[in-house]
Amino acid sequence: MILTGSRKIASKARRGILLFFFLISTARTFSTRLYGQPAPPAMRLYAIDCGRLDYPNMDGFSDTNDYAGQTGSLVVPCFLVRHGNDWMLWDTGVGDRIAALANGEVKQDARFSLKRTLASQLAAIGLTPDSIRYVALSHLHSDHSGNIGLFPHAVFLIGAAELPWARSLPTPEGVEAPLIAPLDHAKIEAFDKDRDVFGDGTVRILKAPGHTPGHCMLLLKLPKAGPILITGDLFHQRRSLKEHLVPRVNTSRADTLASMNRFEGLVKATGARAIIPHERQDFQSLPAFPGFLE
Ligand SMILES: [Zn+2]
Repeated sequence: MILTGSRKIASKARRGILLFFFLISTARTFSTRLYGQPAPPAMRLYAIDCGRLDYPNMDGFSDTNDYAGQTGSLVVPCFLVRHGNDWMLWDTGVGDRIAALANGEVKQDARFSLKRTLASQLAAIGLTPDSIRYVALSHLHSDHSGNIGLFPHAVFLIGAAELPWARSLPTPEGVEAPLIAPLDHAKIEAFDKDRDVFGDGTVRILKAPGHTPGHCMLLLKLPKAGPILITGDLFHQRRSLKEHLVPRVNTSRADTLASMNRFEGLVKATGARAIIPHERQDFQSLPAFPGFLE
């Protein structure tokens, strides 16, 4: 009798302890949801094929003649970033209009072509242009600004020095006035300093002037893939990075070299994986769309 009684007491106590821990853990989860640190946002990085540039002569990509006489082709990606429920597009490619032209379009010493429109690729993952909250632009050259008109309701993030320069007359080399004209009616947030897009350090637009006055890079902190630094046109090829080659279409050689210096410091400090958008091997090192990094 005594044994049975103490067993009963022990099992009651055990149940009580279990209930206690259950309540504590439930309360903790609940209070974290209500008051604690928010869970880090779900993030994804998609690299989308937004065009191709074929050059009979790559001479323009180095002002010290390193590419003279070489043919070459550049990929033109757009980068789509998911941050929680928000979407940001980084650069907009050559423009969906080009996809309808059987042989592309020859301009600025290159043939611009496009296999699949950006709009159709967004649709493939269930997005419309209106799903994109921010369209951020590394700079306003025509292979980055081709689809600005596709996003009439987005907020455009652009380096403050970029727009007055791109709108100046005569239109600067590499800019196409009709492609940037939709910005006249767009919501624009121009920034003078680096811009932390969502305020949590995961998506940062960093100033890297020289190629154009408001040129920027994009530094992402992905939960699994880690830091990724998308260089914009600070470099066009791996060789340009290795040898610090400065293109001929460039607004300040001194600023470009200083931006390259900043890039190297950032890579050293953050351990970021550098992606040169126009370099085919870098583009192909990323998951093929609709694959993504997270
Ligand atoms: Zn450029």
